[in-house]
Amino acid sequence: GVSDSIIKDGDPKISEEIINGIQADNIRKYLRDLSENPHLAGTPADWEQADNLRKFWTDNGLDEVFISEYDVLLSYPNTTDEDNMNQIQIVDNSTGNIIYKSPLYEDILDESENKSNVVPPFNAFSKPGTVESDQLIYVNYGRVEDYTHLDSLNINVSGKIVIARYGKIFRGDKANLAYVHGAIGIILYSDPADYAMGQTDSSQVYPHDWWLPASGAQRGTIFLGSGDPLTPGYPATETAYRLGEDEPEAGLPKIITHPVGYGVAEKILQQMTGDNVPSDWEGKVPNVTYRYGGQLTNSTWKVKMRISTANKRVKTYNVIGIIRGAIEPDRYVLMGNHRDAWVFGAIDPSSGTAVMKEVSRVMGQLVKTNKWRPRRSIIFCSWGAEEYGLVGSVEWVEQYIKNLAERSLAYLNVDLALQGNFSLRALATPLLYDVIFSATKKVPNPDSTEIHKTVYDKWKASFPKDSSDPNSVPRSFINTCTFNLCLSVGGVGSGSDYAPMVQMVGLPVCDVRYTFDPKKYPLSSYPLYHSKYETFKAVDEIMDRGFKHHQATGQVWAEMARTLADTMIIPLDVVNFSNELISLANTLDNDYGTMLRNNSITFDDLKTVTNNLKTEAMAFKSRVDNVDKYNPLAVRHINDQLILFERSFLDPQGLPGRPYARHVLFAESQVNTYAGSSFPGLVDSLFEIEKDPDQKGRWNIVKKHFSVILFTIESATSTLRDVT
Ligand code: GLU
Ligand code: CA
Ligand code: ZN
Ligand code: ZN
Repeated sequence: GVSDSIIKDGDPKISEEIINGIQADNIRKYLRDLSENPHLAGTPADWEQADNLRKFWTDNGLDEVFISEYDVLLSYPNTTDEDNMNQIQIVDNSTGNIIYKSPLYEDILDESENKSNVVPPFNAFSKPGTVESDQLIYVNYGRVEDYTHLDSLNINVSGKIVIARYGKIFRGDKANLAYVHGAIGIILYSDPADYAMGQTDSSQVYPHDWWLPASGAQRGTIFLGSGDPLTPGYPATETAYRLGEDEPEAGLPKIITHPVGYGVAEKILQQMTGDNVPSDWEGKVPNVTYRYGGQLTNSTWKVKMRISTANKRVKTYNVIGIIRGAIEPDRYVLMGNHRDAWVFGAIDPSSGTAVMKEVSRVMGQLVKTNKWRPRRSIIFCSWGAEEYGLVGSVEWVEQYIKNLAERSLAYLNVDLALQGNFSLRALATPLLYDVIFSATKKVPNPDSTEIHKTVYDKWKASFPKDSSDPNSVPRSFINTCTFNLCLSVGGVGSGSDYAPMVQMVGLPVCDVRYTFDPKKYPLSSYPLYHSKYETFKAVDEIMDRGFKHHQATGQVWAEMARTLADTMIIPLDVVNFSNELISLANTLDNDYGTMLRNNSITFDDLKTVTNNLKTEAMAFKSRVDNVDKYNPLAVRHINDQLILFERSFLDPQGLPGRPYARHVLFAESQVNTYAGSSFPGLVDSLFEIEKDPDQKGRWNIVKKHFSVILFTIESATSTLRDVT
């Protein structure tokens, strides 16, 4: 006989108990503790936090907790020898005198930052060495179009040092594009136009407000791959085969790169010569006229970059905590957040870690007191070394990919819990839209003075999918995401640990956080991003007084996980998905349809297969609605089809030229790894295709990939066919 507990879609009382159990005060205490000291990946403090979390989960009722360790290549600046530490200098060639040298550290602006082991600003995996040039060129954001503009003026960066402002695209692409154009070094700086909206007075910036102070610098990786650079495709275990660091497959950056704040940028940009730049190249560094550059103001001066950052093999740790499912323990709902921070990480990622601790505490206590056990397993994942290029999560995926693909329903990521306190912002693949919508409808708006009653109401009013439709649902951003769209909702614009889950495993994924109002603050990211000033004080006194937005993020995240874990028929919506795919195909048609048809691609085949998918999805849905809930095998048939569905979109061979990006619908674009795009393989293969001398070869790549897209969609359709 089948007991009634098997057919229940979870208990609404438990849903309420979890939502009400998540306490702002606890999250505050966890965050204070987590962000008290620096906890950079691969350092003793990182291990300590991993071990503490292991204990916390064990004490709070999780069934199984373990640390999975990998031996990986990370990168650290020299901090022992001041004469060799990373520095930008202006040197007089004729006398050898140093005219200017950049400070080695960011200033201490609040006593709470006065701690040991604050890593100085650096770009991880920068090539080490010293370069000098009597020519310095300003390349704006360092994008493809910026170099095109410089080319049109016959300004060449070859053999020179360039300076680029942060923002718009991933910093790794800036470094790579500078290298491709022949530059010998690149200085990256945070312009107040992009990170402080021009507010640069010391009374207007951190620690008084959330704006970046002059000495704040954005650290960050410039590695374009993901995972451990030396073991692509396989887990970095003790027995793994390792590439040499110089082998092309490792993909390590080949250019000297260093980040500075606008205090340093002011000194450097003031020494530039050349014509004034157009207004869209002008930033807001005080006391600077923006010029293209060339020689410095004094012809005997030169710019020098002294970079002693070195790669190092270290251990990184993922902490995995499991609540075992009561009925289907072999089906997993994955929740993840990274633990490593550049410095104190009170926003990135410890705001998310603090929230994950609170969610796991509430769920763990219910399990421990025998009040609840989810139908399926819930797995909490605390990733190591995300900041270096998603290292911990990618290695784990490489190790367990086969089990994960067979058994997982979805991966729910929270990197930082908030970068502002205006509205929820969600990235999601379409199968998860309904789950996010229904969870956000159950969570009260943390701003109780507003007319919007729930997180959903505020989200929908802030980011409607269709702003001309008053009944529009909120917008979720993976599928429709061109970088500019992401930017316009104030995304920090970074990849995070959901990427390997969707691109390698083929899981439905989402990433949720609270964000600032992008209309009010058109920023490239929250101002303190990756600086030393992401402190507890900044969060507690400025970003989220009272921690209500942290609490709401936790409530949404927990309710999504509970819904997926407890609902008998997995609530992944294939009809929604097929509608979304039809609209993606229409967008593709608008952007590239004519071009594709002119090159003898039968574009209408795409319309046919997407329509077929929709027909099958609707037939499937009616079988779902009529399934005999007392027949566990019938239920399992349906659920297995739902689990398999998204996996159909994987091409085991990978996107053209990208063996590890395997999802044909969702990946970041290659010209900007921060931007998600749909049909990424196709869009990237079409990029500047008219300039390729090998027209036939390029179009063959496009044609082949187009046929792969058709095949994967048909394959998705076949997973939904009646199996009984
Ligand atoms: N989130 C990190 C960053 O923005 C890593 C991104 C990545 O390597 O994809 O620097
Ligand atoms: Ca690996
Ligand atoms: Zn992060
Ligand atoms: Zn980060």
